[in-house]
Amino acid sequence: MSFVYFFGSGYADGNASMKSELGGKGANLAEMTALGLPVPAGFTISTRVCLEYIRDGASFSRELMNQIETALKKTEDSMGAKFADARNPLLVSVRSGARISMPGMMDTVLNLGLNEMTVEALATKTDNPRFAYDSYRRFIQMYSSVVKDLETHYMEDELESFKKMNGYKEDTELTASDLKELVGVFKAIYQKHIMEAFPEDPYEQLWQAIGAVFKSWNCPRAKKYREIHSISHDWGTAVNICSMVYGNMGSTSGTGVCFTRDPSTGENVFYGEFLINAQGEDVVAGIRTPKPLHLLEKEMPEVFIQLENVRNKLEAHYRDVQDIEFTIQEGKLYILQTRNAKRTTQAALKIAIDFAKEGLMTKEEALLRVNAQDLDKLLHPTLDPRAHKQLIAKGLPASPGAVSGRAVFTALEAESWAARGELVILVRDETSPEDIGGMYASQGFLTARGGMTSHAAVVARQMGKCCIAGCSSLNISQTQKSVKVSGIEILEGDWLTLDGTTGEVMLGKVETKNAELSGDFSIFMDWAKEIRHMKVRANADTPRDAQYARSFGAEGIGLCRTEHMFFEENRLPVVRQMILSKNSLERKAALDKLLPFQRDDFVGILSAMEGYEVTIRLLDPPLHEFLPHTDKDMMTLAAQLGFSLEDLKQRVRALHEANPMLGHRGCRLGISHPEIYEMQVRAILEASEICKEQGKKVFPEIMIPLVGIETELKWLRDRLQKIAPNLPFGTMIEVPRAALVADKIARHADFFSFGTNDLTQTTYGFSRDDSAPFLRVYKQEHILEEDPFAVIDQDGVGRLIKLACELGRKENPGLKLGICGEHGGEPASVQFCNNLGLNYVSCSPFRIPIAMLAAAQAVVKK
Ligand code: PEP
Ligand code: MG
Repeated sequence: MSFVYFFGSGYADGNASMKSELGGKGANLAEMTALGLPVPAGFTISTRVCLEYIRDGASFSRELMNQIETALKKTEDSMGAKFADARNPLLVSVRSGARISMPGMMDTVLNLGLNEMTVEALATKTDNPRFAYDSYRRFIQMYSSVVKDLETHYMEDELESFKKMNGYKEDTELTASDLKELVGVFKAIYQKHIMEAFPEDPYEQLWQAIGAVFKSWNCPRAKKYREIHSISHDWGTAVNICSMVYGNMGSTSGTGVCFTRDPSTGENVFYGEFLINAQGEDVVAGIRTPKPLHLLEKEMPEVFIQLENVRNKLEAHYRDVQDIEFTIQEGKLYILQTRNAKRTTQAALKIAIDFAKEGLMTKEEALLRVNAQDLDKLLHPTLDPRAHKQLIAKGLPASPGAVSGRAVFTALEAESWAARGELVILVRDETSPEDIGGMYASQGFLTARGGMTSHAAVVARQMGKCCIAGCSSLNISQTQKSVKVSGIEILEGDWLTLDGTTGEVMLGKVETKNAELSGDFSIFMDWAKEIRHMKVRANADTPRDAQYARSFGAEGIGLCRTEHMFFEENRLPVVRQMILSKNSLERKAALDKLLPFQRDDFVGILSAMEGYEVTIRLLDPPLHEFLPHTDKDMMTLAAQLGFSLEDLKQRVRALHEANPMLGHRGCRLGISHPEIYEMQVRAILEASEICKEQGKKVFPEIMIPLVGIETELKWLRDRLQKIAPNLPFGTMIEVPRAALVADKIARHADFFSFGTNDLTQTTYGFSRDDSAPFLRVYKQEHILEEDPFAVIDQDGVGRLIKLACELGRKENPGLKLGICGEHGGEPASVQFCNNLGLNYVSCSPFRIPIAMLAAAQAVVKK
C-alpha cells in the first residue's frame, strides 16, 4: 500500500482530488507539479500514517521508512543534490498539511539536513557562509521548539543579548562568524535543557521532525481550532517533505505571497507582497515590511512575467482565486504552495459575479461560491479584525452583529440611559415582553438563560439586533446591578462588546466596522431570485418590521405573531387585563380596547406588504411571558388595573402553570375564550376593508396556532368563518400529533405552516427556554452535532415535516406549505425545505437575503 506520494520534475503520484489522503497542501503540490509549474521536488506522507502514528505510540513501520527513503532518492535525483551529502547536500522542509487549511495551528521545520559537515558544504556551494550559518541557527531554533518543545525564549534571549553586546540593532548585522558562534551557543542550550547532544545525523532529524509534525495534529491550539471550525479530529494531517529553496541568497533572491485577485475587494488585480533577500518566515514575522507586488515588475521583470503566467494558469485551472507562495532563488522562480484564497464576503460576491461575467462559470455555479450564512456580515456591523479583544464569556450566537455598549440590568435603565444618548447593552437572566421598550433602546442583549428560540433570541432577530443568549457563566445580580464572570465584576455603565455571530462577550469597547451594501449585492440577489423555487417571506409583527422586511426583498409575511403587537408599553397592561379577567364580560371590555390597536397595526402591515400574502397568526401567548413576576411588577399592575394587590396575586396564582410551554396557549386559549380570536378576526377584516377602500390589494390569511386535533381547527374555523367567510384559513404544524394526523387536519386548512420552534421542543421534549446548558454539553460530547433549535433535525423533526407534507397534500392537493420557525432562515434547513417542495420559507427580516441565496443554492445542488 502507498503511504508516500512523490512529486517532482513534472511528475506526481497524487493530484488535487486527493485532499483527504494528501491534505490540501500536498494535493496542490502534486497538481501544480503535474501542470508543469516550477515546484521544488518532494513527497507527501499520507494523513492515514498520522492517525496510525498517534494510535500506535509514535513508531514508524519498516515499510513506511522504505517508502520514504525511495521518495527521498527520487527527490535527490530531481534536485541534483543529495540528502546528508558532504559536498552537495539537499536540505528539506517538513510541513504539516491537513485536508482543510488550519493556518499556523500545526508545526513546520525548515532547513532540515544541516549539521557541522553539510553547513560547510552549503557555505562553499553558495559561496555564502553567512547564509549557511544563518540557516543553521534558524534550524536549531525551530527543531528545538517543534521537536523537543523547548521554550523559544532561551535561544531568542541569547540572540538578543549577543546583538546588544556587539552593538547591533538588526539580525542582518550579524556576520558569518557571529552566526557560527551562535550555533555553538544554541547547541549548548539544547544540550543543557534536553540533556542530549543536538542530532548530527540528518536521517534522525528527519524521523524526529516527521513525528513531531504528526503529533502537532493533537496540540491544544490545533484541537481548539478544529472545535471552533467543526473540523473532524479523525482526519489527521499529512506531512510534506519539500526540497528547500532559498530566498535569502542575496539581491537576486526573494520570497513573497500573491493572490490572483484582491482578496479584500475581489477586484481583478494581481495583488501581493514580496521581500528581497528573505525567507518566508521574515514575511510572516513582520520584522521587515514587504513591498507591494507591482514593484517586482521593475526589480525582476522576467520573474514577474513568469509569475503572471502562473497566476493565469492556476486561476483558470482551479477556477477560483488562488493564494500563492513563491520563492526566487538567484533569479529562478519556485512555487511553494497554492490554495483557494480566503476572502471577505464583499470580495466573494464580486469574484463570483465576475467569474460568471467572464464566462469562467455559470450563474448557478457562481451562486454556490458564496456561503449564504456569510451574507450576515454584509447586513450587520462586524468586529474590526485588527482590534484587541478581551474575551470574558461565550454564549449562544442567537442574533448576529457586533455591538458595544454600557451594561445595564433592567429594561427601564436601558431606556433612560439611551434617552441620555448612551449606547447600552441589556444584561438579563432572560427577557420577557415587559422588557420590550428597553430592548428597542439597547444595542444588543446578553442573557444568562434561554436558547436559540428563546424570547430574547426571537425578538432580537426580528429587530435586527445583536443577541447572545444562554451565556450560563454569567452570575447576574439585578439588585447589585452587576455581573460576575471569569473572575471579573462588571458594574452598571461598564463597557461590553458582543459578537452575536460567534457568541463572544468581550470586556470594554472593541472597534466595529459598519455594514455596507454594494451594487454587487443586488445583482447577486437578483440571480438568486431567478433561480430559486421557494418564495421567501418574513416573520414581522409591526408595520415598521414589515417595511424593513420588504426592503430586504420579502415576498409576503409568513408569520405575524399577534401577541408581539401587544408588547408596547401602553398595550401590555390591556393584554394583562384580558388575561387576568375573571369573566367574559371583563374580558370583552379589555378586548374592545385592543381591537383598534390591532386593526391599525394590520392596516400598516398589510399596506407595507401590498400585493403579497400576510399570514396573521391568532393569539398564542405563553402565559408565563405575560404575567407579572416581581412584587414591584405586581404592585404597578394592580394599580393600573384597579385591582387590590391580594386580588391580583390570587389571579396570577390561579393562572400559574407548571409547564407553560405545554399549557393554556394557542388554539386552546382560542377555544376556551373564543371572544379573543373573534376580536382578532374582526380586526383583520376591518383592516382589510380599510386597505381596499384605499385602493390597495391586500391578502391576509388567518393562521391558528398549536393545533394537534382535527376538531380543534374545525371548531375554530366554523366559528371564525362566520365573521370572515372569504379569508383563507390555515394552521401551524407545531406539535407531533398535528404531523401524524395531517391528512385529517388538511381537510380544514388552506395552508400549513411548520412551526419548527415548538415542533422541535415537543418532538425532543426539550424546553425551548431551558435546554441551552445541556445542549452545550451534548455538542461538546458529539451527542448532537447541531443545536436542533437552530438547524432542523432532519432525522426526527424533519421526518414529521415530510410526513405532514405527504399526508396533507394527498388529502388536499391545493394545500400551500411553508415554514415559519426560526429554521426558515438557516441555510441547511432551507435546503431541506426546498427538497420537500415547500412553497415558501419565512424568517426574520435580516435573514431574508440568506434564505433567498440558500433557496437558490438548494435548487442548484439538487
Ligand atoms: C414555532 O413554534 O415555530 C413558531 C413559529 O411559533 P412561536 O415561536 O411563536 O411559538
Ligand atoms: Mg409556536
